[in-house]
Amino acid sequence: MKTEEFAKPFKITDGGKFRLKDFAPDETFGFDSKEKAQETLDRGIARLNELHEKLLAQDRWALLLIFQGMDAAGKDSTIKHVMSGTNPEGCHVYHFGVPSDEELNHDFLWRATQRLPARGNIGIFSRSYYEELLVVRVHPHLLKQEKLDPSLVTPKIWEERFEDIVAFERYLRRNGIVVRKFFLNVSKKEQKQRFLARLDEPEKHWKFSLNDVKDRECWTDFMYAYEEMIRKTSTASAPWYVVPADHKWFTRLVVAEAIIDTLEELDLSYPKLDAKKREEFKNARALLEREK
Ligand code: ADP
Repeated sequence: MKTEEFAKPFKITDGGKFRLKDFAPDETFGFDSKEKAQETLDRGIARLNELHEKLLAQDRWALLLIFQGMDAAGKDSTIKHVMSGTNPEGCHVYHFGVPSDEELNHDFLWRATQRLPARGNIGIFSRSYYEELLVVRVHPHLLKQEKLDPSLVTPKIWEERFEDIVAFERYLRRNGIVVRKFFLNVSKKEQKQRFLARLDEPEKHWKFSLNDVKDRECWTDFMYAYEEMIRKTSTASAPWYVVPADHKWFTRLVVAEAIIDTLEELDLSYPKLDAKKREEFKNARALLEREK
């Protein structure tokens, strides 16, 4: 199977007709085991690392990868596996949790703008400003903490946020920051299994919080919020990928291939040597060869 065939079916460039129910969380494209998928993933990771070296050397484009999903959807483990072996100098992961007092004193994009990747770099957001359309929408008391003047909190607030985010991502693209967004689509049933595993395994206890389980009561509201978010913020230049997340090994394959496709589209290359640089190299070689 060719590279692009893994990621393309899950890529949404125009959200207009998007329906979450058309995307199965347990899709695996006929791969029936982790072992078979691993070889393909290893090849993908090697290719990804080559492309990342070029991205760094060329120092022109930046890549921003956004991961969203319900608790236990596999955001952190996907990032860990797909980015394994990536040059740590040019790759930074940020986790966005409950906003601090300082962050609540600013506009909602402020904390993300501080962490945008520099040219040549890959920036990874585990959760992001999209929480403003998800958890804040599902739990309206969070909106109250944002210190907005009541005149700004109208029934149009979500539409306005969709619009502002689309405009922000267009601005990023126009500045050479390429945005790709991943919704890790886990089923409610699989989430339950993963929570139970966290309770059973002492090494996973640190990941567990009762609030995560309580959010299962709002599952339908969250799915509605995700669906609308994908519908309203998927664009050709900043698409969402609706990644099947019930099988972690398949999630990793899709994410790896999506990143590879994106970097390949940039047609990256190592900087060419100009005449001055070539002369410098000649002199350096002569100096080295003269050494006793
Ligand atoms: P994670 O679940 O991502 O591994 P945490 O257990 O630290 O990490 O959870 C982070 C929490 O912060 C999540 O419940 C998330 O919904 C919440 N959060 C993130 N961004 C916001 C935001 N802008 N407003 C309110 N809550 C947020």
